[in-house]
Amino acid sequence: MSEKLIDGKLVSEKIRNEIKEKVLKLKEKYQGEPGLAAVLVGDDGPSQIYVRNKRKACENVGIYSEEHKLSAQTTEEELLKLIDNLNNDKKINGILIQLPLPSHINESLVLNSVSSDKDVDGFHPINAGNLFEGKPSFIACTPHGILKMLEHYNVAIEGKNAVVLGRSNIVGKPAAILLLQKNATVTICHSRTQNLEEILKGADIIVAAIGRANFVKANMVKKGAIVVDVGINRLDTGKLVGDVDFDEVEPISDLITPVPGGVGPMTITMLLWNTVLSYEKSVS
Ligand code: NDP
Repeated sequence: MSEKLIDGKLVSEKIRNEIKEKVLKLKEKYQGEPGLAAVLVGDDGPSQIYVRNKRKACENVGIYSEEHKLSAQTTEEELLKLIDNLNNDKKINGILIQLPLPSHINESLVLNSVSSDKDVDGFHPINAGNLFEGKPSFIACTPHGILKMLEHYNVAIEGKNAVVLGRSNIVGKPAAILLLQKNATVTICHSRTQNLEEILKGADIIVAAIGRANFVKANMVKKGAIVVDVGINRLDTGKLVGDVDFDEVEPISDLITPVPGGVGPMTITMLLWNTVLSYEKSVS
């Protein structure tokens, strides 16, 4: 493996082993175990795979998991009722609503109905607000995983120019806040940003999360930059690529995440992390 690669699988495995040990100790101490409920509405193929992978990851570290698979015709009311039951279910510490939801269901209403104490995705406004204020809370899994990877590779963040490409609530914004808390000077770019290339070219650290295949080219990246590619895009050929043109950018970067095998495994790992954290909060 190239010395430049940020190996998400490796970092992920290390953290998952730590989680596994922690779960064992918690089982001994409290005679109970953390529990995650995954809620899946409809038949979206990739979502089914994501949920399966998350449950498998739970099993591997000793976290109890259950799946609630609902038909695409499920009403908003039925879904809210299920979430209410899970909010009150003592064996469940984390509730995961797999997105996207069918279009007749109000996504933010549903996400906000998950108790903020069981919001292991870190999407609830209370947890987003806590993150904003720099208080410990459930941190959104993908940006949290990015920070953990940068930490593992001893990437200096303080005082660096970090550019986050994308401003979604689940990746771009929380990633920018976390980098800011690590004392980076952060710029957030989006679809209306002018002089995007110029801004990117000034970045010591780039986090690309826009969902546009191979968008970031070598001419947009400074030599020696640290490049984190969140994007997952499937080409017509079936190949999975990120938002960064890896072949072009890898030679000029100092460190770069591959797709797949970079950010992806870390996202699931931090979901496990949050589920254990939630259990610890519930028993302490
Ligand atoms: P969203 O679609 O919610 O947000 C995309 C963001 O990118 C928006 O802020 C949009 O700007 C911006 N954008 C789109 N096109 C451009 C452009 N041409 N130039 C500049 N900015 C642009 O995406 P997510 O944040 O949910 O996901 C981003 C990518 O990350 C996707 O590929 C997704 O699959 C992947 N992902 C990967 C995860 C992992 O675990 N590896 C986890 C989550 C997501 P505007 O706001 O102006 O519309």
